[in-house]
Amino acid sequence: MTIYNFSAGPAVLPKEVLQQAQAELPDWHGSGMSVMEMSHRGKEYMSIQAEAEADLRELMGIPANYKVLFLQGGASQQFAMVPMNLLRGRKSADYLNTGEWSKKAISEAKRFGGVNVVATAADRNFSCIPAFDTWQRDPEAAYLHYTPNETIGGVEFDWLPESGDVPLVADMSSNILSRPVDVGKYGLIYAGAQKNVGPAGLTIVIVREDLLGQALPGTPTMLDYKTHADNDSMYNTPPTYGIYIAGLVFRWLKKNGGIAAMEQTNIAKAELLYGTIDASNGFYRCPVALSDRSRMNVPFTLKDASLDGDFLKQADARGLLQLKGHRSVGGMRASIYNAMPLDGVQALVNFMGGFAKQHG
Ligand SMILES: *Cc1c(COP(=O)(O)O)cnc(C)c1O
Repeated sequence: MTIYNFSAGPAVLPKEVLQQAQAELPDWHGSGMSVMEMSHRGKEYMSIQAEAEADLRELMGIPANYKVLFLQGGASQQFAMVPMNLLRGRKSADYLNTGEWSKKAISEAKRFGGVNVVATAADRNFSCIPAFDTWQRDPEAAYLHYTPNETIGGVEFDWLPESGDVPLVADMSSNILSRPVDVGKYGLIYAGAQKNVGPAGLTIVIVREDLLGQALPGTPTMLDYKTHADNDSMYNTPPTYGIYIAGLVFRWLKKNGGIAAMEQTNIAKAELLYGTIDASNGFYRCPVALSDRSRMNVPFTLKDASLDGDFLKQADARGLLQLKGHRSVGGMRASIYNAMPLDGVQALVNFMGGFAKQHG
């Protein structure tokens, strides 16, 4: 039986990448050792990291005046590092609140300075994105932070908030590399790797150079972006194996047409799944506004919640795994990241159709 893993993260990786990692595990390219065992200062490992960075730059079209950092601590650590590094003597920063991850970023930022919440969708149960013309922005803000894809609520931006001179900061943990992004419009982009990039333990930061070097007094060395920028992410031991796997994923993306091609597949997968939900006569329901639905994380409920357990059990038996919704929202959630093939979504909608017929 083919297994399809719909986990929100850590999440599915491309089969080819896993197979290549398996083949190279004990002896990378004749080096006689595993990537895991290599000195991070040796030329073999340095070449792996340099190639991963070059491929990421090429895939995302990262301009030369941006640094790419390979860090640890997860996106959650960025909730602190962003204000510590980017407040730059200003009183406060602007934050948009679109759900669970925005809320976490906001509460952490409050430890370091003022937070101006420009708009919130809390009164609509985070089922949509507040219209840009309703955002109460502060022209003096140190930066504007938002979450382009809310992994739990399933709300995703299909547009770019133009922030003018205020640096735009984005938590792209769950949709990085899933669609083209104009990096030059951003001051800083960060993402934990375990959703769309690779294994947990690696965090990617892409930051415009002029924003570096103004961290709050007392910022620990390890939490200052400049430390890592000045040392090519080798100030201390980087998460070498995670970077190696991310590099294999980048190569897989390049081989398969890059981000533009990936976006087309992601659109097809999302249309198939949302189409099935919307055509189910209310048996399945997605709470998110049509225009703000995520291509990566698809939350849905069953009309009769007492069938949830049965749905999950039958799905499991068919190899459709990890469909249980987040504990804070209930119902189901299918995460359909880059590495989820269209066949996986097809298998899911086939099952959903049959289950609805059986119980409708
Ligand atoms: C998963 C996730 C996080 C938290 O990531 P960690 O790496 O576990 O800290 C933050 N933001 C978003 C949007 C996420 O999807």
